[in-house]
Amino acid sequence: MTDCIFCKIINGEFNTEFVYENEYVVVFKDIHPKAPVHLLVVPKVHVESLNELEDKNLMGELLMAVKAVTKKIGLNAYKLHVNTGKAAGQEVMHLHIHILGNM
Ligand code: AMP
Repeated sequence: MTDCIFCKIINGEFNTEFVYENEYVVVFKDIHPKAPVHLLVVPKVHVESLNELEDKNLMGELLMAVKAVTKKIGLNAYKLHVNTGKAAGQEVMHLHIHILGNM
């Protein structure tokens, strides 16, 4: 999607460093961290929010990416946060999972 900031990040337009990447997802640091570790797990395809996610395989891939990236950085205690819908505080309308941890 052309006007989506996360699509632009995925397309490399901001040279954002990916902490983890595979065929389905990228993971990068939140620009305004709310915890010592604050990562965003983002599907490469544009899906607005959890409400629009129909692909069960992608749903699994998102959580498997959480496991992979937390293992990679040695974070074994963390919280996941998924703001869904503008009324719940979702600012970027491209599905993402926040990983919040202390390290
Ligand atoms: P949400 O409120 O769940 O939509 O969260 C969006 C998150 O994206 C916020 O925590 C922002 O700090 C983060 N964010 C916005 N733009 C960028 C960016 N260019 N790079 C990294 N994180 C971003």
